[in-house]
Amino acid sequence: MASTHQVSEQTRRFLAARRGLLIDGRWQDARAKAQTAWSLDPATGKPLAELTVAGPEDVEAAVAAARHSFESRRWLRLAPAARERSLWRIAELIEQHAQMLAELETLDGGKLFAGALHGDVAFAADVFRYHAGWCTKLEGRQLEVQSGDMRFHCHMVREPVGVAALIIPWNGPLAMSAWKLAPALAAGCSVIIKPSELACLSVLKLGELLLEAGVPDGVVNIIPGSGAAVGAQLAAHRAIDKISFTGSTATGRHIVRAAAGNLKKLTLELGGKSPAIVFADADLDLAAAGVAAGIFGGAGQVCVAGSRLYVQRAIYSEFLERLSAAARALRLGPGLDESSQIGPLISDSHRGGVSSLVTQGIQEGARLVTGGHAVEGAGFFFEPTILADATPGMTAVREEIFGPVLTAMPFETADEVIAAANDSEFGLAGSVWTRDLSTALDTTARIRAGLLWVNAHGVPHPAIPFGGYKQSGWGREQGRDAIDAFTELKSVMVRL
Ligand code: NAD
Repeated sequence: MASTHQVSEQTRRFLAARRGLLIDGRWQDARAKAQTAWSLDPATGKPLAELTVAGPEDVEAAVAAARHSFESRRWLRLAPAARERSLWRIAELIEQHAQMLAELETLDGGKLFAGALHGDVAFAADVFRYHAGWCTKLEGRQLEVQSGDMRFHCHMVREPVGVAALIIPWNGPLAMSAWKLAPALAAGCSVIIKPSELACLSVLKLGELLLEAGVPDGVVNIIPGSGAAVGAQLAAHRAIDKISFTGSTATGRHIVRAAAGNLKKLTLELGGKSPAIVFADADLDLAAAGVAAGIFGGAGQVCVAGSRLYVQRAIYSEFLERLSAAARALRLGPGLDESSQIGPLISDSHRGGVSSLVTQGIQEGARLVTGGHAVEGAGFFFEPTILADATPGMTAVREEIFGPVLTAMPFETADEVIAAANDSEFGLAGSVWTRDLSTALDTTARIRAGLLWVNAHGVPHPAIPFGGYKQSGWGREQGRDAIDAFTELKSVMVRL
């Protein structure tokens, strides 16, 4: 019989005590007045923990602390091997506190406990370990050149970009922080993390672990607060050199405009509307399970969710039947309940948005195969939903819904499906399901997206660059490219 995971005493204590802001190595109250907010448990809709919210003066203090730590080289003056050990230590501490971090991610963000533990938390540790290695491996290049009668010995080195603001969304705050923080630290930057006001408890716990790992004061500052206030202030701040942002495309545009003042460097990981393309020769068991997990995992609140399904006509009906059976069988419930297979959406207002896009899809002519409704009762649950026979112009096909909603369309030829897959303002990810190597290689070569899987969907890896084409973003996270994004390239020409 399935049971409910019991929240540990440690986590209960963490939730009961209001967290401050992490500025200059100390947990602090907000400066102006006691600014607080409540985070909600999306599985119950009830208040979960009280948070301190940063005001304008706190943002100034956090930026000043980061700037000072960077200019005084508190982090950079440590030997690369010492910084590497610190990143390894952070990974170890994440693993030692895995239970608690997974409980926080489940209660605060609505994840399934097992997924949070074996997915988000384990991945965050892996990301720190992967990037730890770069601390000792950032080398330059050298070259001799001649200009007229002058000869030069030249060397090119990568240096940290400076102070970076890391602005992250609510879907997976621990993993998202790790994606940005680990390469930023490996590159030698000082940072301010601005988690989402909707889910940030695991990031606050990470802050405690960073102090325990010995990251010097001021190198990492954590200031929860609203996007419109704290996020916008950071995006416009002249003492910040770089913004690494993950969130919606609409907010990405605000950040581009705000960052123009001092022409900050930007990395933008934005929205997606990723295609999953199933050819008739695919292993249908594998494809049905992978496509279902790719859209219903995380209740569809995943940037790379495979939300546009294209199935070759010969297997369209059969495949839809398999998928709708799988969707109907999914058990909705709180993430702490071990029998739950799909958790809640993050908020009631987000659920309202998902619901109206589904309604609009049906009004525009899509056929509702299964789901389609908010679940009555406590929490912000929404049924896994399939809209079949969708057409390219429908709003549900074009807009990111960020919920458990799949639009399905048949196709005849590879040319046709590639054109349909590329007919989107997004270009984040996608998957191709086939047994034929030529079909796989040809299709992936012609789809305009930053990360494509063949016979899998939604599997990230710390060594594999991640990011979007088109309006899904600028730049890449993960892999060596993530380090480069937190550095400037300096050339030195020495006349011989
Ligand atoms: P969001 O854009 O509403 O918020 C993201 C972050 O930006 C939050 O911390 C928010 O407070 C802050 N913010 C909001 N307005 C701001 C402003 N004017 N200036 C500065 N910061 C501001 O996104 P969300 O709802 O938290 O997350 C869901 C979105 O994130 C989806 O579109 C999803 O696709 C995207 N996402 C993308 C990736 C990726 O890697 N490409 C990963 C996860 C999520």
